Amino acid sequence: MGIAGNVGLSDLPRICPLISRRVQSPVGEQETRAVSVRAVRFGDVRPVVIAGPCAVESFEQTLAVAWAVKGAGAEMLRGGAFKPRTSPHDFQGLGVEGLRILREVSRQTGLPIVTEVMDPRLVETVAGYADMLQIGSRNMQNYPLLIEAGKSGKPILLKRGMAASLCEWLGAAEYIAKEGNLEIVLCERGIKAFPCGEYTRNVLDLNVIPAVKEETFLPIIVDPSHATGVAGMVETASRAAIEFGSHGLIIEVACDHPTAARPKCDAAQAIHPVHLRNIVRFIDARMEQTTLRQAHAV
Ligand code: PEP
Ligand code: MN
Repeated sequence: MGIAGNVGLSDLPRICPLISRRVQSPVGEQETRAVSVRAVRFGDVRPVVIAGPCAVESFEQTLAVAWAVKGAGAEMLRGGAFKPRTSPHDFQGLGVEGLRILREVSRQTGLPIVTEVMDPRLVETVAGYADMLQIGSRNMQNYPLLIEAGKSGKPILLKRGMAASLCEWLGAAEYIAKEGNLEIVLCERGIKAFPCGEYTRNVLDLNVIPAVKEETFLPIIVDPSHATGVAGMVETASRAAIEFGSHGLIIEVACDHPTAARPKCDAAQAIHPVHLRNIVRFIDARMEQTTLRQAHAV
């Protein structure tokens, strides 16, 4: 006898026919269908680095972090204007004012922006400012939000729910695809497991990267910041994610300027631009090796 609601990988062609590699083949068998955000391409050979503050706190803070991450080699800026916080008494983000700040910072630095939308009623507003919409972990199964995001016409960064199976995650992506939007990038950001809160915020599930690649042609990136919650682990986790085949990284960064204020959220996981630079250098070195290997092969 089966269990109601229980699904496994063999059900994926039925659950998500639009994004299942076993049903659809918009690209070659092993290949990823690239997703473009302005000039940035997810799913190409070179992993994309997105970086920026957890939350947009002020124009000055966002601009300073944006120039720092650009200087370190990041290609895209992240930053939350609407923040999902555990306590309703904590800083909730600057809202629309935060979106305006992101837009102006993007104009000055040339960096495309990704920012979270939490409310289906605000999808159009956020889409008016952002180059890419982020669906956060807490909202991965907010189906009305996924449908609105799908209709927005913007590329979507779909974070994995903190306790979501691969089937549930890809089912969520299918909701977006069903609205005619295949511009979806998946993001592994750590899952709940028994060590959470002891020495790590979440458990970074690197194993899901090859599994995602086997089931779908959508690109997948990793968020080592929320996956670990510990700044000292972010650099190593980033390298590991790249070794596992991640198409990119999204990393929280805080300015190390002596006058810079401590971030209002997730301060313990924010790295300094110099560490971001190391991560980009690691990617550069890996790309050079790949080019050399290819040159030797011919
Ligand atoms: C974030 O990226 O700002 C965020 C809140 O992440 P997550 O949804 O993965 O917790
Ligand atoms: Mn954060």
